[in-house]
Amino acid sequence: MAVIYAKQALLAEGWAANVRLDLRDGRIVSIDHGTGPEANDTRVDTLLPALGNLHSHAFQRAMAGMTEVRQAGRDSFWSWRELMYRFMDRLTPEQIEAIAAQVYVEMLEAGYASVGEFHYVHHQPGGVPHDNIAELSERIFAAAARTGIGLTHLPVLYSYGGAGQVELSAGQRRFGTGVDEFERLFDAASAALRHLPGDARIGIAPHSLRATSPSELSRLVARHGQGPIHIHIAEQPREVREIEDWLGARPVEWLLGNLPVDDRWCLIHATHMTVTETRDMAASGAVAGLCPITEANLGDGAFNGPDYAEAGGSFGIGSDSNVNISLTEELRLLEYSQRLRDGSRNVLVPGAGSVGRFLYMSAARGGAQALAREAGSIATGKLADLVAIDSQSAALCALSRDSLLDGLVFAATDRVVTDVWSAGRHMVRGGHHIARDAVFAAYRTAIERLLAS
Ligand SMILES: [Zn+2]
Repeated sequence: MAVIYAKQALLAEGWAANVRLDLRDGRIVSIDHGTGPEANDTRVDTLLPALGNLHSHAFQRAMAGMTEVRQAGRDSFWSWRELMYRFMDRLTPEQIEAIAAQVYVEMLEAGYASVGEFHYVHHQPGGVPHDNIAELSERIFAAAARTGIGLTHLPVLYSYGGAGQVELSAGQRRFGTGVDEFERLFDAASAALRHLPGDARIGIAPHSLRATSPSELSRLVARHGQGPIHIHIAEQPREVREIEDWLGARPVEWLLGNLPVDDRWCLIHATHMTVTETRDMAASGAVAGLCPITEANLGDGAFNGPDYAEAGGSFGIGSDSNVNISLTEELRLLEYSQRLRDGSRNVLVPGAGSVGRFLYMSAARGGAQALAREAGSIATGKLADLVAIDSQSAALCALSRDSLLDGLVFAATDRVVTDVWSAGRHMVRGGHHIARDAVFAAYRTAIERLLAS
């Protein structure tokens, strides 16, 4: 059993001082406060629930910075996607594992305890399955095991190249499966996942409306009666128009009207919604999977935060393309995108109150829900997904306890993170992941081979 002593901690019921947490089998088994530390306690300054990163495509981390050069004409999400396909088509299984391990180290050091890996590169270049159909899922599992991050694996069903059941393009064949092949892949990945710690989860991820069909989606959802369901929903205006032309309704409107959307669902990039869609989605109980850095990088647009928050909608944060791994910046940019659009301040909090606390605690709850982790708050019985920050750092030392999360979101960087536990695994100590040098060395070797290929 491990014990953490924190000078202060944000518990489910609020702030407390001199807190001792007992951890056993990855969970918090008891919480005392008002007591001093004991000899073998791990001592930290300020303890918070750690967030889950609800949306990642790990391999894209290795192309960060490669697509920021303007081409003749106008660059867009769609021209970025072509470059991403060309990059992805050269990756070997070994390289995919090394990249995933590197990005998971970076996520843990940023303060995330877990990740939802929206995994769609399944096959060899050209689309031939590996001998083990779940080979690339198992590479992700190996990276999670190496780094100790909590994994919710989300294998993707990707059957079509565009809205209206268009055939896959050459660049898309590595991720193409029909429903039956997807089920074989899912079963193989589920079996292999049992070798990970017990907090690992598996769900399903129909890629998007444009990459599936209504009948496939219904079959898939009917077959999977439990576990998370993630889908890219309305990232780009062109996508919204294409779905409207094909299915006669906007993507969020169509999904809510035709599938049993509830709190198992996570709608990634619910960027383009009418006010009615925004309110209906909030009422469904689904989580909005917001990826502010990637959405800004790709020019997607800004989420309708005020109406969604007023309607009590759940949301969480994802790093998606992994162009930059920063938890504080994701939350900051989420609020700043609202301020820039609306010409106002302190937008993302319903009624009145601390924006930093609302953003952080909502994303902790929403991330845990989307990843099917019993986490998101510090309470007895929950997974020990915890992050410690240094309230005496330059960015935070002037702030009272009630302003600390505003300081974390608006004034600090991830460097205030000192320790991170994922289901009790103490992976970040003194600001560094315990295997960061070895993981980075393997990543460097993989990148050298990739660039030489
Ligand atoms: Zn995505």
